[in-house]
Amino acid sequence: MPDARHIPEAVKRAVRQHCKFGCAICGSPIWDYDHIDDFAEGGTHDPDNLILLCPNHHGEKTRGMLDRELVRSFRATPTNAKNEMSGVRTILRASDQSALILGETILTSRIAETGYFTGIWVNGHILLGYQIEDGRLLLDMTLTTRDGNVVFEVCGGEARVSTGVWDVNWVGNTLSVRSTDHQIDTLLTFGHKAIRVYKGLFVDRQGCGVEVLSEHRVALLCNMRPMSWFDGAHLDGGSVSFALLERNLEIEPPKGVVYLRGC
Ligand SMILES: [Zn+2]
Repeated sequence: MPDARHIPEAVKRAVRQHCKFGCAICGSPIWDYDHIDDFAEGGTHDPDNLILLCPNHHGEKTRGMLDRELVRSFRATPTNAKNEMSGVRTILRASDQSALILGETILTSRIAETGYFTGIWVNGHILLGYQIEDGRLLLDMTLTTRDGNVVFEVCGGEARVSTGVWDVNWVGNTLSVRSTDHQIDTLLTFGHKAIRVYKGLFVDRQGCGVEVLSEHRVALLCNMRPMSWFDGAHLDGGSVSFALLERNLEIEPPKGVVYLRGC
């Protein structure tokens, strides 16, 4: 028998889509589902009675510090509905969690020596990498659509999602972004030792960058055309794993690149 306390998945999705993938109050892209009228007191799983709240605002409401009618007013006009990108949430990573895995391709570096580690560099822009500050890793990550529009972004550890996509969901530490019911565009896990991207695009407006395909292959793209493929490689030791550089740009490639490709 289904557990009556369990919110049906279709209802959860409707609430995510209504609240635009973040806390209705502050926009944080890490959330809990909250019954505005408590389930234990007879509140229902009706989407109108459900809201996304970050753990902080959820805690305030549970303690009775947040007025219920005020919460309801944020349900009517969620903060993220006014913006193209959600509010931010800082994602902390320890210094031994620097491995980046794209499909089956593992990227590692001696980050403690260099203070930074770039996984993907495209025409002067870092689309995936780490800086180190006070022994902690600050992640930089830009996952995009095929047009180069951002769907999920982390800048200096601060994560935001696009409010313009069809659905964003977390299951445990796994984030998925969908453009339709049947199309997962982005799938990644924030694991204990590594961030692993199972599917996703890291491209600039010219379609130059990296695609992680669902069959675990990694393609380097120029104008969205694949130029090179990687299956299960281990790129280790450099300070930059992948660098792509258009020939007509007067930019110096970065130092310490393991794999450099002109296009
Ligand atoms: Zn919040």
